[in-house]
Amino acid sequence: MPRGTIHRGTIGVDLGGTNLKLALLDGDNQIVERAIVPTQGAEGHDAVLARITDGIGRLRSAAPSLDVAGIGVGVPGEVDMARGVTIELPNLPGRWVDVAVAQPISLVCGLPVGVINDAKAFALAELRIGAASGAGTALLVTVGTGVGGAVIAHGQIVYGVGSAAGEIGHLILLPGGHRCTCGNLGCLETLASGPAIAGEAMRMIVQGFSTSLTDLSAGDLNAITPELVARAADEGDAVAIDIVDRAGNWLGIALAGAIALLAPEVVVIGGGVAPAGSRYVHAAVASAKSHTGILDVNRVDFRDARLGYDAGVIGAALWGRDYAMEHGAQV
Ligand SMILES: [Zn+2]
Repeated sequence: MPRGTIHRGTIGVDLGGTNLKLALLDGDNQIVERAIVPTQGAEGHDAVLARITDGIGRLRSAAPSLDVAGIGVGVPGEVDMARGVTIELPNLPGRWVDVAVAQPISLVCGLPVGVINDAKAFALAELRIGAASGAGTALLVTVGTGVGGAVIAHGQIVYGVGSAAGEIGHLILLPGGHRCTCGNLGCLETLASGPAIAGEAMRMIVQGFSTSLTDLSAGDLNAITPELVARAADEGDAVAIDIVDRAGNWLGIALAGAIALLAPEVVVIGGGVAPAGSRYVHAAVASAKSHTGILDVNRVDFRDARLGYDAGVIGAALWGRDYAMEHGAQV
C-alpha cells in the first residue's frame, strides 16, 4: 500500500464462541472504538446477529464523524464468502448451518457486509500490517481453543473451497487418537490446542503423576488451563514441561508437513496458547526444523504474530473495507 493512501473507516466483528469483539478502524487502520460483549450463542443465531448490529450501532454513534465504508465479520468455521453465508460453525451452539450473516446486518446497518473465516481474518491482518507483511509465500497458524491456519501464496491469502484452505489443525497426525470437532480422530487440534494441553494435564493429575499443577489448581481440575500449565512449566515442573513440549512437538510436525508442501518464506505463529517467546513456541519451532528435511529450513523465517489479541477483529475490518470496495455499488 503506497504511503499517503487515504482509506475510509471500517468496522470489524470477531464472532467467537465466548465473546463478540467489535472494533471501528479509522483510515490509518487504527482502532478508534471497540466493544466486547458475550456471544451467548445458546440463544440462537438471530439473537447473536441482533447483538452484532446493536454493537455496530454503538460504535458508529461513538464516532459519528468517521466515514465508514463497510463491515467485516470473522466467523469460526466454513463460510461462503460470495454470499456472506456460514456453511457450518462447529464450535457454536446449533452449528450455524447455512445461516445468512451478511444480509441481515447489511439491511439494519445500511453498509456492505463481508464475511470471512476467522483464521483468514487473522492472516489478512498479519499480512497487511503485521508479521507477514511483504511475504510472497507464508504459512500462518493461530493456537487457542482450536488450531487455525492460513496460507499466503503470491502475496495473497488462499481461500479455497468453503474458505477452508490452510486448516492445519485438521491434519491427522495420530490415527485413532482423540475425537476432533471435525469428526475425525487424531487431528493436530486434539494434540496441540489449549484444550489438548489442559486435558492432558487433567489426565496426568488424575492418574497420579506428581506435579505442582495439583497445588496450583488447589485440587480443582476445572482450574487447569493452558496458561496454568505453561506457568508450571516455566517454574520447572517436569510434568508440565513434558506436556508443553509434546504439544509443541506435534505442532512442529504439522508445520514441517506444511513447509514441505508450501516451502514458505515466512511461518507466523500466534494465538493465546502460543505467545511470543513461550516454551510452547520454542518447542514447535525446534520440532518444525528437526522434521524438515526436503529444503534448507534455515531459509524459512519463523516469526511471532504481531497483532496479538486484536488480529482477528482487525482482519475482519480490513476484509469489510475490501468487500465494500469490490461490492459497495451493489448494496
Ligand atoms: Zn479435525
